[in-house]
Amino acid sequence: MTRKFDGKRILIATHNAGKLEEMQQLFEPYGVAVVGAAEMKLAEPEETETTFVGNARIKALAAVRATGLPALADDSGIEVEALDNAPGVYTADWAETPNGRDFGMAMTKTHDLLEEKNAPRPHKARFRATLVLAWPDGHEEVFEGKVNGTLVWPMRGQTGHGYDPMFQPDGYEVTFAEMDPAEKNRISHRADAFSQLIAGCFG
Ligand code: IMP
Repeated sequence: MTRKFDGKRILIATHNAGKLEEMQQLFEPYGVAVVGAAEMKLAEPEETETTFVGNARIKALAAVRATGLPALADDSGIEVEALDNAPGVYTADWAETPNGRDFGMAMTKTHDLLEEKNAPRPHKARFRATLVLAWPDGHEEVFEGKVNGTLVWPMRGQTGHGYDPMFQPDGYEVTFAEMDPAEKNRISHRADAFSQLIAGCFG
């Protein structure tokens, strides 16, 4: 049985102000106040696991330990089938440069690797998002969302972030970066994971 959330406050284990604001709106109808990791002066733990759920769990458990509050953490990324599901949990790492993240570079690397391998088209890929909700008594619930699609080249579109310009979700002729953001937010891996969380723990 999935445990229902009956608390009044939930800690969101992220330092990203945008994500926090999104969560505030999501939990408001359930009378749950959202507390951010920055507000609680939490350090960002190192993500040393090799799976999305492993890394989300590290963040959730560190936040629970530091605050005694139930905590929600997420981890996400893109998997490319012909690259043995890389970059996966290393999605953000592929974009690291000495001057910050460069996703144009990361997408070019992804494309170049597919060309080197002469990988057959279509280049199937999926975005994954994993949520871990952890309680102070050690209980946890895990939700895994995904959206399937194909990689396109050259990149297309200006909106969105990360790998959006090269990802075309199944059933659409546009990339995530060409799509109306409201539409993307309706069909995305994150939306999938969140609707499972709401149905499971808040419904
Ligand atoms: P994190 O879970 O916020 O650490 O995200 C990991 C990385 O996955 C991000 O840096 C993005 O590059 C990528 N990513 C996750 N979700 C999306 C998305 O919806 N569009 C594009 N890139 C994404």
